Amino acid sequence: MRNIIIIGGGAAGLGAAYKVKRAADEGHDVGFTLIEKDARVGGKIASERVADEWDGADGAEFIVDGGPDCFLTSKPAVHRVAKAAGVFDGELPSDESRKKTLILSRGNLYEMPDGVMMFAPTKFVPFATTGLFSWPGKIRMGMDLFVPKKKLAPGELNDETLEHFIVRRMGQECLDRLAEPLVGGVHASDPKQMSLAATFPNLLEMEQKHGSMLKGFLAARKMVEQMKKKYPLKPGDKPKTFFTSFADGMQSFTEAMADAAGRESIRTGVSVSSISRDGDIWTVALDDGSTVTGDAVIVATEAWAAEPLVRSVDTAIADALAGIPSSTSATVSIGFRADEIGIDMDAFGVLCPQKEKRALMAATFSSTKWPGRAPEGKVLMRGFVGGPQNQAIMENSDEELIGIVLKEMRSILGVKGVPLFARVYRWHLGMPQYTMGHLGRVETIEQRSAGIKGLALAGGSYRGVGIPNCIESGERAVSKVTGEWDIELAEDAVEEKRVH
Ligand SMILES: Cc1cc2nc3c(=O)[nH]c(=O)nc-3n(C[C@H](O)[C@H](O)[C@H](O)COP(=O)(O)OP(=O)(O)OC[C@H]3O[C@@H](n4cnc5c(N)ncnc54)[C@H](O)[C@@H]3O)c2cc1C
Repeated sequence: MRNIIIIGGGAAGLGAAYKVKRAADEGHDVGFTLIEKDARVGGKIASERVADEWDGADGAEFIVDGGPDCFLTSKPAVHRVAKAAGVFDGELPSDESRKKTLILSRGNLYEMPDGVMMFAPTKFVPFATTGLFSWPGKIRMGMDLFVPKKKLAPGELNDETLEHFIVRRMGQECLDRLAEPLVGGVHASDPKQMSLAATFPNLLEMEQKHGSMLKGFLAARKMVEQMKKKYPLKPGDKPKTFFTSFADGMQSFTEAMADAAGRESIRTGVSVSSISRDGDIWTVALDDGSTVTGDAVIVATEAWAAEPLVRSVDTAIADALAGIPSSTSATVSIGFRADEIGIDMDAFGVLCPQKEKRALMAATFSSTKWPGRAPEGKVLMRGFVGGPQNQAIMENSDEELIGIVLKEMRSILGVKGVPLFARVYRWHLGMPQYTMGHLGRVETIEQRSAGIKGLALAGGSYRGVGIPNCIESGERAVSKVTGEWDIELAEDAVEEKRVH
């Protein structure tokens, strides 16, 4: 049997492992050994059940997501894998009846105007009447209709930073009050550095196709409405909301993937310290002194963790990996009594643009957005801190971070009440930054590894940080190495188009 060694047990590593298992079930003579340095699998996907820790606690539990709390519904990989692994019924749509996004602007809270798609208004009245933007800011956004599209030389890579693109098309105010917190926030990235071609290529394409973002998003809104009509919800279907989670927390999904792939082939709590190759045989050395040999290696770690491992195999890949920076962030989840919190909980969360100079980047009203996250009579809030523009905050202790987030929630949202519990989840270098030149670095990594039999890299550091992208990158890595053995794997079922 051919053994594929998978390093890293996050979404990408587990996506690879489960793909190998499905290949074995199809009758191919392949297996895997997955090595994960943490005690559990899941990587950034981490959930916990936490009971109240206050005097008189009743033991009822909150479900807390420390890393991602959802995935993009329109991308099929999670649904496909969840169905195969038997946890599709656990998928949880957000509670749209309470959907509202707040944005902090000049110290005041504004509701995101209805019809805004990413950063573009598609409904006139809510845009015209919002106090989120000044009139000069609104007029400048409307000028997008007249800003000529970027001229590209033949063969030129169409790329620019998020900041450059938004300021050029929609003006500084749109960047500061909407695009930076909303679009940059998804990647916890600095708009001054963020490559649009690597993160949101559809925006660049939209400009080329429609010549205007407003026209492009109006067309997109029309298409979504048509699709909703064409694919109405069938009886028993769950509503297809923009984001989806899992009722038992996101980690229930990765645990199901690990079960489906086969726990007997997964080793946790031990780290890979080096990779070497002798002909077609690959050996990885572990930090407990043991080694594992195999016929291929999939490195599904963060780019910065892959770099020293891959350097002994190919320095050009390692150099490209070294060019992918990452930023550190943390989420702080805090439980309150519903009758003490003292704010209107009918919202999904609040965004705090950098311009506001707050310690808090964003906060999610977790128990509003995801029903079942808090027990009866209690609510769950989650703050997000760090990111490339505020790395200094990460030097605080957990106690200090809780204090900072609580103070911010009190001053920005008016939160009252005594915390029932608080948890900090730190993500050291947890968010890869797709800076300008990112696609070139990824192409180097892919082209070089295409020439090295038995080596593939996978994960959120390359072609998409979203969980569905990570799963697919793990699956592609398996197809790369099995293809070199002339093993043809069955195509993964294509999901019905999901509309939200
Ligand atoms: C706070 C936060 C919120 C996020 N929110 C969302 C969201 O809502 N929706 C969404 O789609 N995405 C979100 N993301 C992004 C998404 O979670 C990640 O991109 C994705 O989970 C990464 O998966 P991965 O498998 O590539 O990497 P990881 O999950 O980082 O897995 C890599 C694994 O490799 C292991 N490893 C590293 N070195 C070694 C070694 N030498 N030996 C053995 N093991 C090793 C690590 O321990 C880790 O478990 C968020 C990320 C963060 C940090």
